[in-house]
Amino acid sequence: ISKSFGGVQALELVEFTVEKGEIAGLIGANGAGKTTLFSVISGFHPPSFGKVRFKNQDITGWKPHAICRKGLVRTFQVVRPFPRMTVLRNVTIGKLYGRERLKDEKRAEREAHEILEFVGLNHKAAYPASGLTIADRKRLEVARSLAAGPELLLLDEVLAGLTPAETAEAMNLVREINQRLGITIFMVEHVMKAVVGLCDRVMVLHYGCKIAEGTPREIAADPQVVEAYLGEDLEI
Ligand code: ATP
Repeated sequence: ISKSFGGVQALELVEFTVEKGEIAGLIGANGAGKTTLFSVISGFHPPSFGKVRFKNQDITGWKPHAICRKGLVRTFQVVRPFPRMTVLRNVTIGKLYGRERLKDEKRAEREAHEILEFVGLNHKAAYPASGLTIADRKRLEVARSLAAGPELLLLDEVLAGLTPAETAEAMNLVREINQRLGITIFMVEHVMKAVVGLCDRVMVLHYGCKIAEGTPREIAADPQVVEAYLGEDLEI
């Protein structure tokens, strides 16, 4: 994939495969192109060059809702719930208009409650989304994405801004989504502890180019990655 915005080359010939069942990671400094890559994969921006394939099908140029209904769902770094709706309604909408397109509101609500239970937010189902803490907004963002029925979930910095205790809980949630629900995950993350603890494989972007790919240990030992991104004193 290559992607430019006017004169800015945000991505340059980036190639990567996420395998079914794995947790893949995407790291890189601010402005490296991570969110742009997610936006291209999920249909929010067309690539300037290249193709996106999902489940053996070329989905390049598809609209986001069509990609979502095929089972590729993203979350946003800056979460975007419907603020005046309740937490429950925010998730129910995914059931009604996402992949399943349920017609039965009651069933959609029941299943939304199950998802909220899974992410640990059911006790706040009746709250307006605008009243949630940062950690709970992130949970809601994940719940909304699960309601859309993903096979591949793109998580954009779901751990950012969390306390260490909240980070540990959120890491467990990501693991559960992968292992219990069988959902493949591709995640952008700055918290290296989480990348090392969760990811099977990681790609590193630097000024829009892929500079490394491998296990977390391999990329942490890569001198180019250390120089570009991680700093000298990384401990794993
Ligand atoms: P961060 O960690 O800060 O979220 P990132 O790795 O996600 O950074 P991107 O947000 O993808 O990086 O940005 C990559 C480059 O593309 C940056 O130079 C950014 O300014 C530019 N860019 C991103 N989106 C647009 C846009 N819609 N219009 C113009 N330039 C953009």
